[in-house]
Amino acid sequence: MRKNFCPLCGKEVELEEMVGGMCAECYIKKEKIIESPRESEITICPRCGSLYEGGWKKSKSIESAAVAFISSKILISNEIDNIELNFSPERLNSKKIIVHANFKGRIKTETIEKNLDILVRVRYNICDRCSRISGGYYESIVQIRAYNRNPTKSEREKIKKIASEIVNNGYDRGDEKSFITDIKEFEKGLDLYLGSKKIAKQICKSVRSRYGGDLLDSAKLVGEKDGKKNYRITHSLRLPKFLIDDIISYEGNIIQIKKIGKKITGRDLSTGKTIMLEDHKDKLRRMKKVGSIEESAETDLIAATENEIQVLDPETDEVVTIPKPYFIDDFNKNKIKVIKTDSGLIALSATFKEKK
Ligand SMILES: [Zn+2]
Ligand SMILES: [Zn+2]
Repeated sequence: MRKNFCPLCGKEVELEEMVGGMCAECYIKKEKIIESPRESEITICPRCGSLYEGGWKKSKSIESAAVAFISSKILISNEIDNIELNFSPERLNSKKIIVHANFKGRIKTETIEKNLDILVRVRYNICDRCSRISGGYYESIVQIRAYNRNPTKSEREKIKKIASEIVNNGYDRGDEKSFITDIKEFEKGLDLYLGSKKIAKQICKSVRSRYGGDLLDSAKLVGEKDGKKNYRITHSLRLPKFLIDDIISYEGNIIQIKKIGKKITGRDLSTGKTIMLEDHKDKLRRMKKVGSIEESAETDLIAATENEIQVLDPETDEVVTIPKPYFIDDFNKNKIKVIKTDSGLIALSATFKEKK
């Protein structure tokens, strides 16, 4: 076998152990293994912490922006294997961050470890998104209202959560106009001001698929630029007049609402059958709320015949006869939940007698 010698240190080396014409040890001494800028400057938005790199990029914090910037600038020799690079940022003050970089790698049989401290200077500039938000920019309004009632607290909270999730997802995907400019709350509902038409539409779609309701869109011309007309869109979303567990009367039947979405599903309390109530305005008008499950009270079931039951009125303790509901199938049940309505007591559910 031919002998090889390192031209720099004269050491004898196997041919496959040579790197760039020398031994690994000399290569590590002579060549640049890892190169990073001694000093760097980054531009950060003081409001949201995003980093400017040709465009604004979302970033969790100034520290993570500094790390992202440095890791994109660091150069490592192609001859290195098993590269491990760890960064820990240290904030000196609002304008200076030191990024400590720990580098590990291998070249042939030699292992290398290096520590670098890179100073990153921070400049501040408000990003386009934050300047739009602070300027009150919006393209669409989503108005949430409800038929014959005010939206409930839980509906409001859920809708705000849906909106903020959609906005965050849009921003993560790179949509700079994905933000909520403002939320105005009223007794009759709430108005969400949104930075992007697309996001507003997504919010309407998502809220409707959960709650149902009617949507009415209107556009208002707000300006013209380069021959292109600029509209602001208002989506008026009216939630159904019923809520889950509302008890309604419809064509002589008493129904407990079970599901609200594009279609309303309920349970007929006399037959126990699941019925679909089409979300049709004419039909909705003929449905009347008679009570809600929260108003129910527990009372005693006294007797049951084929078509009727006798219960105690929970307020007056009088014995009342009402139509037999589907869930009374035997006499083992002795406690029954009822609500009081204009048309008398309505039975909602029954529980089994405790075994003694
Ligand atoms: Zn050498
Ligand atoms: Zn910002």
